[in-house]
Amino acid sequence: MHCPFCNAADTKVIDSRLANEGFQVRRRRECADCAERFTTYESAELSLPRVIKSDGNRERFDEGKIRSGLIKALEKRPVESEAIDQAASQITKRLMSEGVREIPSSQIGEWVMDALRELDQVAYVRFASVYRSFQDVSAFQEEVERLIKATATK
Ligand SMILES: [Zn+2]
Repeated sequence: MHCPFCNAADTKVIDSRLANEGFQVRRRRECADCAERFTTYESAELSLPRVIKSDGNRERFDEGKIRSGLIKALEKRPVESEAIDQAASQITKRLMSEGVREIPSSQIGEWVMDALRELDQVAYVRFASVYRSFQDVSAFQEEVERLIKATATK
């Protein structure tokens, strides 16, 4: 790495340690030319895709929104907070692993539904009814039947 003081082409690492709870590596470097020292931080680049909303607007992905959505759907249901946190971070990981720059909010909605189905089926149906804003009763009924069938085959 170039020296930020004299622009020399080579600098050497004199110390290297974990920072930010292990998510970064902090390195002290020294320039062989001017002997100035400086610090660099290295972290994995995990840029999350932006979310395309149904109106076409783009927004930053927010795991907090996923979590609060799950909490709302799981209100008064016997699901531990830790399980909700795990589900939310799993959705974030899934998003990162997609490796895309933009993702439709409907896709994230589907993942939230997947997570809810695993966590609590009552909440799943409750959320699905709102999320998919069922056009008619039969569509809602189909969803419930699909769920019951899926449970029976487990
Ligand atoms: Zn230098």
